[in-house]
Amino acid sequence: MKIDSIDTLLTEELRDVYDAEKQITKALPKMMKAAHSQELKHALEEHLEVTKGQIFRLEEIFDLIDEKPRSHPCAGMKGIIAEGNEMLQADKRQSHENLMDAAIISAAQRVEHYEIAAYGTLRTYAEMLGNDRVANLLEQTKKEEAEADRKLSEISGRLLTAERQGSQEETENGRMTGNGRSRSPHAKASARSRRA
Ligand code: FE
Ligand code: FE
Ligand code: ZN
Repeated sequence: MKIDSIDTLLTEELRDVYDAEKQITKALPKMMKAAHSQELKHALEEHLEVTKGQIFRLEEIFDLIDEKPRSHPCAGMKGIIAEGNEMLQADKRQSHENLMDAAIISAAQRVEHYEIAAYGTLRTYAEMLGNDRVANLLEQTKKEEAEADRKLSEISGRLLTAERQGSQEETENGRMTGNGRSRSPHAKASARSRRA
């Protein structure tokens, strides 16, 4: 498609993000399978459902601008997903589940940020064209991506905190066996409170 107007620019970039969303629906189930944390699995599953709705919303937008829903291969998303897959491969050799889940989240957040950028730009084009209906639909999707990103940050924070506390405990236990001294009541109490 020749890009010679904001209309054609909007259409071209809609095709790109349409393809990106379809790639994401294939990538999310793999990430869900690789995730250890139930909370993370659940969040990814939830975003898969949201993503299916976003694809439907894009089809609605194509309809509103009198274009057929066509996709144009999104090289950006392909690269982000490929990088995420590298991480899933590394997972098989690792034992730190919290860290591997944090790595999955890192890949997922790169996906969300790409989408936030794409939808923000698309919404602006629609606003420039005075197409409020389309602009609102695009803004709605952008908000969903931002919400997914926020939720992922929250989960990552919890996993990393647990990981840090777990490794602190390992270090403490190691020190204990090292010098043969028993744990102080304080160490026991704080270890107990961390586990709770
Ligand atoms: Fe999306
Ligand atoms: Fe793209
Ligand atoms: Zn998304």
